[in-house]
Amino acid sequence: MISLDWCSTEQKQNLLDFDREALTAYFASMGEKSFRATQLMKWIHQAGVTDFQQMDNLPKVLRLALEKKAVVANLQVVSDALSTDGTRKWLLQLADGNVIETVFIPEAGRGTLCISSQAGCALDCSFCATGRQGFNRNLTTGEIISQLWLAAQLLDNDSKSGKRITNVVMMGMGEPLLNFDNVVRAIRIMMDDFAYGLSKRRVTVSTAGVVPAMDRLADILDMRLAVSLHATNDKLRNELVPLNKKYPLKELFQACHRFVDKQKARYRITFEYVLLDGVNDKPEHARALIKLLDGLPTLLNLIPFNPFEGSGYKTSSPQAIKRFSEQLHKAEITTVIRKTRGEDIAAACGQLAGNIQDKSRRSRRFETPRFGMK
Ligand code: SAH
Repeated sequence: MISLDWCSTEQKQNLLDFDREALTAYFASMGEKSFRATQLMKWIHQAGVTDFQQMDNLPKVLRLALEKKAVVANLQVVSDALSTDGTRKWLLQLADGNVIETVFIPEAGRGTLCISSQAGCALDCSFCATGRQGFNRNLTTGEIISQLWLAAQLLDNDSKSGKRITNVVMMGMGEPLLNFDNVVRAIRIMMDDFAYGLSKRRVTVSTAGVVPAMDRLADILDMRLAVSLHATNDKLRNELVPLNKKYPLKELFQACHRFVDKQKARYRITFEYVLLDGVNDKPEHARALIKLLDGLPTLLNLIPFNPFEGSGYKTSSPQAIKRFSEQLHKAEITTVIRKTRGEDIAAACGQLAGNIQDKSRRSRRFETPRFGMK
């Protein structure tokens, strides 16, 4: 039996915050050997056990000591929605009342979990519902990894479906590279053989282009990178992705080249490009995109815009999407059109809104009701 009870972490250390290195140090501070860390990781992340008393290969005194000073505190599941296409979305409440979203997308041969990294988002991309919510704070490592812990347990319990998480994408709410340390620690747990054992090619961090953090990331960890591009000139990108004013396209592409060069795995960079009707979906935009991507090992992900109330944008027509992708195919750029999933439960890209106590006051600028929450 798994327990989804919500524990208060006020005085106790949440062990979900620790990767193996931190957990080893924690046990060392208790005078325990390092193998206790791997035992505990297996209990928590593989067996889904959060009650120390059930961890029967730990000495009883250690179990009691842990119970006094530590806890495995997961997020609280507020709602669990299943789309007609099998996509599943959970609303998860943090201890401070903020609500974030996590989405599971089953596909033939794989299951992708889309994880949030922040409560809200500070970037304010003009076409994204999360941005409208404003920003509250970074998620802790425990809050990030709890999304995976809960999804794995809840899907495992779903015995009929046999669904499994094979891939994780940091493409939920927030900008992962603005929550660098906690995201990196969470990824280390995802990739740890004593925890989830995901291979580096199955974990993707998506960024709007935080250039210095892209360099830092390439220095310390191999995984896949996705860059949210959306425009091929600075004027338009400044409008769509305001972060571009800080890190314009030239700097962003230089960083992409450095990233590929530094990574041992040398995976292609995925570029995400949301197609907005009449804004960035014309033949001249495709031509500019082909030029921009020249010389970089890339995979282009075209995302038909997922509308939300008051966004002010329209989805490109099927003809425009087809024409755009064909132009790129002809230029021999590997291009996929992202299938819209989970639209009926507002789980599609850019529709994640959660329920954020906005500290940025951005949400007040918009008169439209929040999307994605009743
Ligand atoms: N901040 C990171 C992580 C969010 S990923 C980033 O920008 O990459 C979410 C992806 O969904 C991004 O590529 C984003 O541009 C895209 N997206 C946001 N709003 C969207 C919408 N309304 N329709 C389709 N895609 C959207």
